[in-house]
Amino acid sequence: MRPHPCTATRRHRLAAVNQDTWPVMAILSTVTNSLPPCPECSSEYTYELGALLVCPECAHEWETAPGDEASQSVVKDAVGNVLADGDTVIVTKNLKVKGNPTPIKVGTKVRNIRLVDGIDGHDIDCKVDGFGSMQLKSSVVKKV
Ligand SMILES: [Zn+2]
Repeated sequence: MRPHPCTATRRHRLAAVNQDTWPVMAILSTVTNSLPPCPECSSEYTYELGALLVCPECAHEWETAPGDEASQSVVKDAVGNVLADGDTVIVTKNLKVKGNPTPIKVGTKVRNIRLVDGIDGHDIDCKVDGFGSMQLKSSVVKKV
């Protein structure tokens, strides 16, 4: 005998709710474990609220560690060295230059680079001997 359609639907919905609930609880507990404890009362039940961390026990709110943003803006060269303003780099492959018959050759030394947030991933502003000021991609240079 087939169950009444109403009963079947309700039972199905109940099962769906249970399935949805458990994974969410699992995710929440993982997140809680990776967050730092409350600086006010040392509670470990802190949770994230946008850019803030919130303690449910003493209602203290504070900003997450500022280190995250800095690590996102790190510029690395072709082999993974971290670049900084004022570094000297060498070009790791021939680079065609618009309007110039000769490319910038492999091994060309570029002094005193400046890190910029350039167009199309060009993150180094520099002056290349014989070519003048230009922007390069960090992926085509190597720190020396
Ligand atoms: Zn607290």
